Amino acid sequence: MYNNSLIALDRAHLIHPVASYRGHEQQGVRVLASAKGATVTDASGRQLIDGFAGLWCVNAGYGHDSIVEAAARQMRELPYATAYFGLGCEPAIRLASELADRAPGDLNHIYFTLGGSDAIDSTVRFIRYYWIAKGRPQRDQFISIEQGYHGSSTVGAGLTALPNFHAGFGIPFDWQHKIPSPYPYRNPAGDDATSIIEASLAALRAKVEAIGPDRVAAFYAEPIQGSGGVIVPPKGWMKAMRDLCRELDILFVADEVITGFGRTGPLFACSDDGIVADFMTTAKGLTSGYVPMGAVFMADHVYQVIADSAGASAVGHGYTYSAHPVSAAVGLEVLKLYENGLLENGIKAGARLMAGLEALRDHPLVGDVRGRGMLAAIELVSDKKTKTPLPAEAQASRRIFDRAWDNGLIVRAFANGVLGYAPPLCCTDQDIDAILERTVDTLDQTL
Ligand code: PLP
Repeated sequence: MYNNSLIALDRAHLIHPVASYRGHEQQGVRVLASAKGATVTDASGRQLIDGFAGLWCVNAGYGHDSIVEAAARQMRELPYATAYFGLGCEPAIRLASELADRAPGDLNHIYFTLGGSDAIDSTVRFIRYYWIAKGRPQRDQFISIEQGYHGSSTVGAGLTALPNFHAGFGIPFDWQHKIPSPYPYRNPAGDDATSIIEASLAALRAKVEAIGPDRVAAFYAEPIQGSGGVIVPPKGWMKAMRDLCRELDILFVADEVITGFGRTGPLFACSDDGIVADFMTTAKGLTSGYVPMGAVFMADHVYQVIADSAGASAVGHGYTYSAHPVSAAVGLEVLKLYENGLLENGIKAGARLMAGLEALRDHPLVGDVRGRGMLAAIELVSDKKTKTPLPAEAQASRRIFDRAWDNGLIVRAFANGVLGYAPPLCCTDQDIDAILERTVDTLDQTL
């Protein structure tokens, strides 16, 4: 098996993100050692298909020499350049320009961060700055959606609507409000598109009315709610919510940290949804997880208000690693890969994955199948008629994860009995078939 001393060192010193510390101490770490394509190898030499692209991020797949070369070249030439003091470096400038060229509408201004959480944090700061600049400082309330995830920073965790990101921390989030999720499988409004969209519109109107019409700064939505359990709103939902925000004069933030960079098919899910947000947040697929980086896309009309208001003064928001040259060089290389076949392959592989998962609808445990492109889920229930969730949910999901692992598959087992899929876009037909076969084995063993 593994190197026992490594497991002991992990137990003693490494705090894992979003983990039960005591549970992890008992379980011990599973050490990943290497990877190629969609296959990872653990420290004991076992190979597994990564059905979740790490943490929905390794879109290009593992072991791409051209990405490694791009990073190495940049490290040799200029490993670090600050973007403070009016300085800059070529890869960051070029990446910003390439992203602006491809973004929907007038999202022409790019602010680079280290990942998704600080991209979200940055939007909150920019949005407050914007409303103060517009002479409406009372617009300081934010609305997001139940089961939404917007990161784990002190501010972003407030927008996140997963209970364990709030419980026990004692941080007040009284500036934060939620409306119900447009969750077709479990929606009190029914499962047809019109009812779901109308219910969400009514909920947002009512929430804004309750908070005070001139108090709401922004509304945050994921095109598909990822960490909430891959919840896919009906077609037209994003557009309807975007239009309502425009009518109510509320800024609209599309959080594309998961959906961006080909995960649902096109480079950005907002393009498919036919919307242009005021802000778009991205990370993960931007560098395919090879190095950390996020990007906030800011619409021109927002940028101009902030720039005019600041005038000759500095807008006091920045990180040492904003616009990092190595991350930007990786981002440029990954963008080339998307456009030289990776997006196309993702669309093809996504169709195969969705068709295979759809075929599981008859399985006694499968209550729902949903997804778009290479982002999908099945929801497991103990009674399909009543949609009763699996018993002892958290432990059940841990057992399913373990079973899938034993079958050579890494899949995300959410606490609510949802199995999430987000494989690398480079998956071959054989990779997708292996994901499906190992899923069936796992389900059969769970019965
Ligand atoms: N927003 C969404 C929609 C996410 O899914 C995530 C992470 O999964 C984040 C923000 C936070 O990103 P990060 O983990 O890179 O900080």
